[in-house]
Amino acid sequence: MNTRRKFLQHTLWGGLAAGSASFWERIVPNIDLLNADVLPVVIATWGPNTKATAAAWEVLSKGGRALDAVEAGARVPEADPEDSSVGYGGLPDRDGNVTLDACIMDEFGNAGSVNFLQHIMHPISVARRVMEKTPHVMLSGEGALQFALQEGFKKENLLTDSARQAWEAWKVKSEYKPVINIERHDTIGMVALDKQRRIAGACTTSGLAFKMHGRVGDSPIIGAGMFVDNEVGGAAATGLGELVLRTLGSFLVVEEMRRGAHPQKAVETAVKRIARKHASLVKDAQVGFVAIDKKGRHGAFSIHKGFNYVLYQQGENKVMEAGHLLRG
Ligand code: ASP
Repeated sequence: MNTRRKFLQHTLWGGLAAGSASFWERIVPNIDLLNADVLPVVIATWGPNTKATAAAWEVLSKGGRALDAVEAGARVPEADPEDSSVGYGGLPDRDGNVTLDACIMDEFGNAGSVNFLQHIMHPISVARRVMEKTPHVMLSGEGALQFALQEGFKKENLLTDSARQAWEAWKVKSEYKPVINIERHDTIGMVALDKQRRIAGACTTSGLAFKMHGRVGDSPIIGAGMFVDNEVGGAAATGLGELVLRTLGSFLVVEEMRRGAHPQKAVETAVKRIARKHASLVKDAQVGFVAIDKKGRHGAFSIHKGFNYVLYQQGENKVMEAGHLLRG
């Protein structure tokens, strides 16, 4: 880190009370630029994921690898029965099956993914095994389950009583209509930059509640739900997966950063692209992106108000509201 940056960092963040960051954020609009090169950092979609970022920080703060951090982080909501959009406790498809999607990428550009996986609580760890132990990137459905069982993962019933009750209630009308910010999703897309400047990302979800059986969203698709490039940065998406799939949103964010865009500009470009290409759909659909670049700068943006995210940097685990494109 150069001396000027160190000076700014010490003056703004170290020399002054840590709790005064919000004061500086108010008077220096581009604090994020001054805050460059502050490692490590982890960012995750949705405010309720603070325990996940804390688990990731635990790895990062000890000098651990970004890949281990994002896996540890993603496993938190996967095991949480209260989280209705990831792993155990996730809302089922319209036939009552909990089907899970997840993907992971490391600093070398290696990737692993599982989709339409049932009965396994930690799809993110299965995705990592796909990446590390097979010649493939993606395993699906029965094959993914078979692989997980071979690897020693336990077959479990992931449908909790409250998820079953929500499904029973939904069946009364059986109406499928994606709702903006439904559940204040805890679906997690996470990107981390470690002390050695290695970047990794993870994304895991039970997908849209009451989806058609067999539906796979953006979350396990490398480049859609999540993408990292160690030369540049990483991004992750949440919301209506069909819109992210059609625009390969996370890849687009990373490519924008490659062309020199600040992460905030890059996520705004991806949201605007969706809005321009799919104007008739965005009125009723939410999509949000988070991103960090190689310097530890971050960005977050969504179509509609209501998307928040968690940033863990400089020992502070903060829930922040993302900016949004559409008014009203
Ligand atoms: N993007 C996920 C999907 O479409 C859902 C979410 O982010 O909550 O499956």
